[in-house]
Amino acid sequence: MRVVLATNNAKKLAELRRILTPLVPTIEVLGLADVPTYDEPAETEPTFEGNALIKARACLAATGLPSLADDSGLCVDALNGMPGVLSARWSGVAKDAGGDAANNALLLNQLSEVPEHRRTAQFRCAVAFCTPDGIEVGEVGEMAGRVLSSEQGAGGFGYDPLFAADGYDISTAELAPKEKDRISHRGKALTAIAPTVVDALAKL
Ligand code: IMP
Repeated sequence: MRVVLATNNAKKLAELRRILTPLVPTIEVLGLADVPTYDEPAETEPTFEGNALIKARACLAATGLPSLADDSGLCVDALNGMPGVLSARWSGVAKDAGGDAANNALLLNQLSEVPEHRRTAQFRCAVAFCTPDGIEVGEVGEMAGRVLSSEQGAGGFGYDPLFAADGYDISTAELAPKEKDRISHRGKALTAIAPTVVDALAKL
């Protein structure tokens, strides 16, 4: 059974594919590069859940295939939960023009005077799954931790070099991929939605 993962972020797609494939063994995971191009919708909702649903619905409408989308971001307590849904474009620099590096530099600057005990943050992820026969479901996952005072590690993507999960001295960019998946916001949200995906695909 084919499912389209509605993201153009190659590193996020790799994570989604890596997590979902063992959870839903019958699945053939397609990326947006495997389907005809369509205009991706603007992420206009104030919540991760709302934006994940917009993306999954648009993908279903364009491809006619079961579609799964993720919306995720980093919520920093000292910034009242920001960057949140604005995480990908926090610095205003496009992803393909070095957005991750600019986002990380801006976040470090914003927290430069915030002491370690107040640098708590959470990665949040919402996933939404839509099928041609009208199923629409969503799940969320969270990973709590803190923002480091300098970048550590070269793995992962986005804010990973600046984030250490609770109980870890290393950043999520330094974790083995399987270990990140086991504790991550994305791993938790996909693990929660996997049984529904299995059921829905069996009925198509
Ligand atoms: P989205 O593509 O609109 O969901 O944006 C997600 C953004 O949140 C990414 O571009 C990253 O900046 C950040 N983000 C989400 N999940 C992660 C993660 O697992 N590691 C690092 N950054 C993440």
